[in-house]
Amino acid sequence: MEDKTIESVIILGSGPAGLSAALYAARAELNPLVLTGMQLGGQAALTNVIENYPGFPDGVGGAALGDLLQKQAERFGARMEYDNVESVDLLSTPKRIKTYSKEYLANSVIIATGASSVKLNVPGEELLSGKGVSYCATCDGWFFKDKEVVVVGGGDSALEEALFLTRYATKVTIIHRRDQFRAGVLLQSRVHDNKKIQLVLDSVVKEIQGEDKVIAVLVENVKTGEKTQLTTDGVFVFIGHKPNNGIYQDQVEMDEHGYIKVNMKMETSVPGVFACGEAADPEYRQVATSVGMGAAAAIQDAKYLETLEK
Ligand code: NAP
Repeated sequence: MEDKTIESVIILGSGPAGLSAALYAARAELNPLVLTGMQLGGQAALTNVIENYPGFPDGVGGAALGDLLQKQAERFGARMEYDNVESVDLLSTPKRIKTYSKEYLANSVIIATGASSVKLNVPGEELLSGKGVSYCATCDGWFFKDKEVVVVGGGDSALEEALFLTRYATKVTIIHRRDQFRAGVLLQSRVHDNKKIQLVLDSVVKEIQGEDKVIAVLVENVKTGEKTQLTTDGVFVFIGHKPNNGIYQDQVEMDEHGYIKVNMKMETSVPGVFACGEAADPEYRQVATSVGMGAAAAIQDAKYLETLEK
């Protein structure tokens, strides 16, 4: 028989924002249900070490932080369902959330489905994805022990992950499209001090070459137009993220880049639907800010549910 239970709140996503919302919702006795998605702990769980999350002076592993956040939320009664949301109807009453095998009903929803890596969209990238092309150094760095790799990008992620990859690779070449890095100064100075790292600036990757595995990248200097073939064993792409908001299209208001619009109370354009973390944050995208947004979303949700009872 179909389960017609109507949950008070369903939280979509299990990154720092979702788990923080779960903790606050659980402590407000809302008995929250978290649909975790495929990546338990969110993008943060793929980070080797997080050094700027307050309270951890020696840093904390991304996956370890995810575990701690989950345990803390579960301690107060949050329930985790390891399921992936395929479609939603946020405009109906109650709100409907479909996964592959089940439909869930809820009086309120907190969206915390985060963001995903942006692809380079060059020939060879898709073909060689998982065969030398990677978007996660923590996941795949080990495969490049004593090999040479290329890192594409100039933000915090690119520089942080390039430094991490020097643990394994003999040489890490950072290819960046400008001659200035977007990354913070501390990371920049660590990169400059690391003898294993080489910089190829004002340059873009035009093609990733190889059949069964990566053998080279074709690099173009954007100032001179000169093209060079650079041999490499792996290509790590860190050129930003895009929010995972496709399934909410035409239901909640979004900005021109697809981030869900929220106010200071994490309210979306739909009553009873809140959004937090990178799904709704084009600006900061830090674990610390996502955690704060998640807490705020749950506090506001509790207030919203009170209004339904009146
Ligand atoms: P990001 O800050 O948006 O940087 C993306 C980088 O990729 C930029 O350098 C950009 O070049 C380059 N890029 C974008 N599109 C490109 C393309 N098509 N081809 C070649 N290069 C391209 O992204 P992120 O590094 O993933 O960081 C995202 C957010 O997370 C940021 O707010 C960051 O501060 C934060 N973060 C923080 C930490 C930390 O504090 N430890 C660690 C990781 C991430 P341009 O510079 O020319 O635009």
